[in-house]
Amino acid sequence: MIEIKFYITTPIYYVNDVPHIGHAYTTIAADIIARWNRVKGKEVFFLTGLDEHGEKIAEAALKAGLTPQEFVDSIAPKFIKAWEKLNISNDDFIRTTEERHKKTVIEIIKRIYENGDIYKGEYEGWYCTACESFWTEIQLNNGRCPQCGREVKRLKEESYFFRLSKYQKKLLEFYERNPDFVLPESRKKEMINRIREGLKDISITRKTVKWAIQFPFDKEHSLYVWVDALINYISALDFPGEKFKKFWPPDVELMAKEINWFHSVIWPALLFSAGIELPRKNFVHGWWTVEGKKMSKSLGNVIDPIEMVNKYGSDALRYYLFREVPFGQDGDFSEKSLVNRINTELADSLGNLVNRVLVLVEKNFDGYVPKPKEKDKLTKLSLNVVKAVDESMEEFRFHSALNDIFFLVNESNKYINENKPWEIEDKEKLGGILYNLLETLRFISILIYPFMPETAGKIMKQLGIEKKISFDDLKWGILKSGTKIKRDKILFNKIIL
Ligand SMILES: [Zn+2]
Repeated sequence: MIEIKFYITTPIYYVNDVPHIGHAYTTIAADIIARWNRVKGKEVFFLTGLDEHGEKIAEAALKAGLTPQEFVDSIAPKFIKAWEKLNISNDDFIRTTEERHKKTVIEIIKRIYENGDIYKGEYEGWYCTACESFWTEIQLNNGRCPQCGREVKRLKEESYFFRLSKYQKKLLEFYERNPDFVLPESRKKEMINRIREGLKDISITRKTVKWAIQFPFDKEHSLYVWVDALINYISALDFPGEKFKKFWPPDVELMAKEINWFHSVIWPALLFSAGIELPRKNFVHGWWTVEGKKMSKSLGNVIDPIEMVNKYGSDALRYYLFREVPFGQDGDFSEKSLVNRINTELADSLGNLVNRVLVLVEKNFDGYVPKPKEKDKLTKLSLNVVKAVDESMEEFRFHSALNDIFFLVNESNKYINENKPWEIEDKEKLGGILYNLLETLRFISILIYPFMPETAGKIMKQLGIEKKISFDDLKWGILKSGTKIKRDKILFNKIIL
């Protein structure tokens, strides 16, 4: 049976700050996968959203002279706007302060409690307010938070614990049975090693944090923000209704490496306890540095994705991020390198190819698609590239997919140079060559669509195609001769820095 549903999630982003390139990277990746699966004919549910509870938010709100709700309401539109600018095609946008979410969190916690996996205890440790994490003595870095380097405080308080230790064996068995549960491989190994070292029960409630969802079994306690946050993947599907039945489990959950532990160990254990099927795959990607340096507010080098879109366009940014670095690895953001790719690959190679072919069709065939003659090496190459791109996309090897697509672009440019259409006098022969180029352009437009939806649409429009983009159309010879092409402005302008 062919799977027709596809559920993909990004982590929900913490609203103590405006969106930066890291948020954009995960969200664009999810968008690429969502668009690809729609092209493949699946019914996609693509979820992103915001994590709006916790002490850090309450503190930021206080600083801004707002209530926590007013504060999160002021940040949320900035994320929504950013995703619009980046052409993100999410089907839902969940905020953890919504009723539908709170309701589901309580329902899931009840299930876990009734399963005997929550008990009352006392927690003592070093606490970092910024990271909302407790650390052990050993974990501290020179007495400071190992994650952000801030000061930590000694905290001891009554807390409810989740029996994570109970699920050690079950988790290892699950990893064994599902070798692709966490990708890339190196990230999976990290998790397996940590699980093998032994799992300790974890504190899931706080007594002092008010800006949180109340623990349903003790009014003095509230749930840790990360427990509440993880459950968003369920609450957005109106659990346990029809939507949940249709789309659960997630086919892929995307995340950056710092939250792999939460998604690949704690989350599965909570789901085991609640009796809910586990996600099929977690894909963990790396971090971005900027011009070789760590991105930080204090260095003033945080990349604003909206500023990049305003300067270079959404498609160029989307292309750059996934061409520059293999998905999964760490990468370095460099504006110079972005501009270089726009100039050489998008303007010189792709933009120029489209323009050249259409000018030739206008000049020799009054702008009408000529009759096909014979398939040739360009046909074979196009079909091979489709196969290769399909394989790469299914494995999230975006970098390879783009490499192959641009190989086809470059080979098409070479094909023009080799065949010298301007020297061919035989109209039929010339028509055949131009037809093959137009078909290749059509293939290219479908293949680049997940990465560059705007550009794909522009190419299709110029080819006179109005149909919805579908993988099934990646068959040779679909473009009808006699179709009127509509040459438009060049796709990418060169940028001088
Ligand atoms: Zn910290």
